[in-house]
Amino acid sequence: MSAAAEIRHLRAELARLLRQAHENQRIMQRHQALDLCLISAGSLRELLTRVFVKIEEISELAVVTLALIDSDYGIRRIMAELAIPLSRFPQLLFFDDEQDALALKNALASSRLGPYQAALHGRLFPAPAPVPVSVAIVPLMRNAQWIGFISFGSLAADRFTKEMATDFIDHLASVLALCIDNVMHHERLKYIGLIDPLTGVNNRRYVERRLREEVGRIDRQGCPLACLYIDVDHFKSVNDLHGHQTGDDVLREIANRIQAELRLSDALGRFGGEEFLALLIDTNGHDALLVAERIRHSIAQGSMRSRRNTLLSLSVSIGVATLSAPLPAGEPDQLAQQLVAQADQYLYQAKMGGRNRVIGE
Ligand code: GH3
Ligand code: MG
Ligand code: MG
Repeated sequence: MSAAAEIRHLRAELARLLRQAHENQRIMQRHQALDLCLISAGSLRELLTRVFVKIEEISELAVVTLALIDSDYGIRRIMAELAIPLSRFPQLLFFDDEQDALALKNALASSRLGPYQAALHGRLFPAPAPVPVSVAIVPLMRNAQWIGFISFGSLAADRFTKEMATDFIDHLASVLALCIDNVMHHERLKYIGLIDPLTGVNNRRYVERRLREEVGRIDRQGCPLACLYIDVDHFKSVNDLHGHQTGDDVLREIANRIQAELRLSDALGRFGGEEFLALLIDTNGHDALLVAERIRHSIAQGSMRSRRNTLLSLSVSIGVATLSAPLPAGEPDQLAQQLVAQADQYLYQAKMGGRNRVIGE
């Protein structure tokens, strides 16, 4: 080869290597963007959407499914709480039985990558997803614990072959396992942290936080806010006469009856043992007294039965306080506390006045 030809050849080789480097860089950037996209999902709903839409899109796959071990129904229960219908994500699959999942994992052992085999892979690619031609199935591991599979399906036979390097999909699976774990942890905290487990209504922390937000809104939007402090009358005797379990049933039933009288935008929380706080948004004193009276009536009139089937006669006393623009001087925190204290004072008057009554301004 002449010197000139050799230089031409070297130039061509250099250009090819540069193109290759650019292409590799582009692939890396795409994968990094995918990592970021998964990591930044703030909720389970967002994460699932990104898994099923983004991975398919970015990786140019025909189908991606996620199969999670959920033997105690914990994940599905949280999805129900979050109002995420399972039908919204047909590519999200569950194993009710860990042994069953393990049997599949063992059966897959050497066939996690390669041509699709209906008998072996079919469970991980159920209809209505398209039937793939080649597949990659990666176990999801989190802190040495196996939580399920992520499965990729392509319509190209050469996309997933037994010989291919799996660095990318292994990496994606480990990022995804971390994200699932994080997001579930977060959702559980949200759920456990703000809901009263006995009655299913909000808990005190939630109502206090919401109250501060709503007080702030009075000034900005000029809407009045009403606060109902509701206390069950002689509740101690329900426990004493009918047992603690009946007491718990009564609290649940009372929470339901209060909730039934409120609007969706209102907030109800269990504030203490047998005490509830209802925040009525954009409601003046007159209307709040009417709502409180409806709640009182619904509890005094509707019958409830103990676990031993005796008829219980129950009632509540309610104190009603309101706050409207222009707000008196003070920090929102302080005004919020004053509002509750005022409602509590009216409640005290209702108790002193003979119970089963509403007092307010
Ligand atoms: P009053 O009409 O003055 O409000 O009388 P009361 O008996 O309702 O009030 P008191 O504060 O004396 O008693 C409240 C009782 O509520 C005492 C407590 O054991 C009971 N309690 C608190 N939390 C729960 C709970 O989660 N379940 C049950 N079953 N009882 C509870
Ligand atoms: Mg009380
Ligand atoms: Mg009471």
